[in-house]
Amino acid sequence: MAEEDNLGAPLIAELYKPPALLPIAQLKESLLYAIETFPVTIIVGETGSGKTTQVPQYLFKTGWTNDGSQIVVTQPRRIAATSVSARVAEELECQLGQEVGYSIRFEDVTSEKTRIKFLTDGLLLREMLVDPLLKRYSVVMVDEAHERSLSSDILLSLLKKVLRARPDLRVVVSSATLDAEKFLNFFAPHDGETINNKTKEEFGTIISIEGRTHPVDIFYLSSSTNNYIEKAVETVMNIHTSEAEGDILLFVTGREEIDDTIDMIADRIVDLPHGSKSLQPLPLYAGLPTDQQMYVFQKAGENVRKLIVATNIAEASVTIDGIIYVVDTGYVKLRAYDPALGIERLNVVPVSKASATQRAGRAGRTRPGKCYRLYTETAFEALESATFPEIQRSNLASVVLQLMNLGIQNLVRFDYLSNPPSALVVRALDLLFSLGAVDVHGRLTKPLGTRMAELPLEPMLARTLLNAPTFGCLSEMLSISAMMTLQGTAFVTHDGNQKLLEKARRRFAVKEGDHITLYNVYQAFTNPAVGKQSSQWCRENSLNYKALLKAVSVRKQLRNYLDRMGIQENTLASSDAIRAGGMSMAERLQRCLTTGFFAHAARMKSDGSFMTVGGEVVLWAHPSSIFFHRKADWVVYQEIQETKGKVYIRDLSTIEMDWLTEYAPEYYKVKQK
Ligand code: ADP
Ligand code: MG
Repeated sequence: MAEEDNLGAPLIAELYKPPALLPIAQLKESLLYAIETFPVTIIVGETGSGKTTQVPQYLFKTGWTNDGSQIVVTQPRRIAATSVSARVAEELECQLGQEVGYSIRFEDVTSEKTRIKFLTDGLLLREMLVDPLLKRYSVVMVDEAHERSLSSDILLSLLKKVLRARPDLRVVVSSATLDAEKFLNFFAPHDGETINNKTKEEFGTIISIEGRTHPVDIFYLSSSTNNYIEKAVETVMNIHTSEAEGDILLFVTGREEIDDTIDMIADRIVDLPHGSKSLQPLPLYAGLPTDQQMYVFQKAGENVRKLIVATNIAEASVTIDGIIYVVDTGYVKLRAYDPALGIERLNVVPVSKASATQRAGRAGRTRPGKCYRLYTETAFEALESATFPEIQRSNLASVVLQLMNLGIQNLVRFDYLSNPPSALVVRALDLLFSLGAVDVHGRLTKPLGTRMAELPLEPMLARTLLNAPTFGCLSEMLSISAMMTLQGTAFVTHDGNQKLLEKARRRFAVKEGDHITLYNVYQAFTNPAVGKQSSQWCRENSLNYKALLKAVSVRKQLRNYLDRMGIQENTLASSDAIRAGGMSMAERLQRCLTTGFFAHAARMKSDGSFMTVGGEVVLWAHPSSIFFHRKADWVVYQEIQETKGKVYIRDLSTIEMDWLTEYAPEYYKVKQK
């Protein structure tokens, strides 16, 4: 290892205990034997037993990468990929991006030297487009498989195929719950059959890590509460004032609830008697900036009790030491896609029994702990046993497009771990057909469909960007697409001043809508005479400096994709492009957006709400849209999501009704019959 990599090592040794004490350490030899012997190894063990951080290191140290190949570990969430890779790099005393690295969409922190790579499951699916047999990897570890994320389910199906072609490949599936048999049966040949001359018994095995957890006392409410946040705050304060030392982990459903809870706790803290132990509330959710994630994992100071207020991300993906008390509100925010209306719902629903058990388990890692469930025991008994897999409740358009690009034609007979409802598959195919990615025979079109699959953008945006050259607005649309990937994080309040933010937004706003407004932001930020890509300027304009830097990087990457496809600004002098010559840039962009987002059209009513084309649903402009206040007629929107019973649309641009039939005649003919 290079000299400079050892800088800071003493500090690391101080901060972290040696990993040898982890429960997985006792199983190291049998684990390595299993992976050597069987194509598939399923590892089951409680969160914190060392699966994610240790298994790749064991493999690395026993030479699984000596021939230059890599070990890849997938995570359902970006935050897990980044935080876990940082941890492993520390344990191996190397710099992140060297021997250990991570890769998430638009952010690649790996190098030639990288041997252990953490990435999101979605990204490994993308890699398969280029490298279908995953040749650069000796071991693929699908981590957190119990979460049943859409991409990890699909990945397992594809790995099953890859294993037939690559007897040398090793697949490790890790799960925090006891569903190992299901995974093993999925991979293994049926009784009496063989795969690569291996029988069922020879094909895979299960390794269970004995929990070294301590008992957790569970407390229920005697009667149910109708305000679980208030109850949570009360419970936390009770623990803090009357229980022995140890940190608290509180599960709520989302970012807003986290902020609210932390505000409420802050109000209560000031009332604590002088000189008493202090309570330090810390947020933890998927979108939390990396620099703030750190505090959650750091040890609290002398006489300070940490309170981590988290979404279900703290259930299994990330391990936090020192938790003795868990407060479980019993709810989780789950996505559910309505194929009939094409709306993604974010519903707050009761957790499953498996989740509740996982959550309680967080309390018993260091010593005996306590879990306070803010619901009755009867309510617990009535919970579903496990959460529905994501594949059964998601918009499948992106995944279907990618599977087709991998040459999988029959999506109905594909070997799923759990079958998606056919309505979801049909809806996805319909959309892809109307976008021109799929032809009447249900085949991927060339080059449009394959190009759409290759771009790391959702299909409607990919289609829009690919159409931009015909409107002579490629450069502008590249910036807009990059800004879209920030998903509403371009503007931020500095010091919580919402008024300043609104004022700043108005400075960039144009009547055509949010897309061109964000384009203006991008232009100003990158203009050497205006924003100069400076953090100072961002502060003055309530903009998120890091997010905008990201947009600059994303734009470059998208540009590279297009270059590789041979798409350049001025190569297409089609009749469309000539016609577009006489239009304003704004109109070209609006028309171009219509060609991708026609299925997301709506019309504003006099009360400021919107109506879908078929008139089935009432929509509301998201507060971040300029049409939250302004009037419009027809618009297309980027995203639609139902939260708390209200359907919001984000990122709106005005269009003309005629354009819908001009650019999507098939789609609107069917609709109007
Ligand atoms: P598993 O994957 O089985 O849930 P991990 O490998 O993630 O377990 O964690 C093993 C141990 O490593 C944890 O108990 C914790 O002590 C430590 N650890 C993991 N991630 C971090 C981190 N980001 N910071 C500090 N310690 C960590
Ligand atoms: Mg893990």
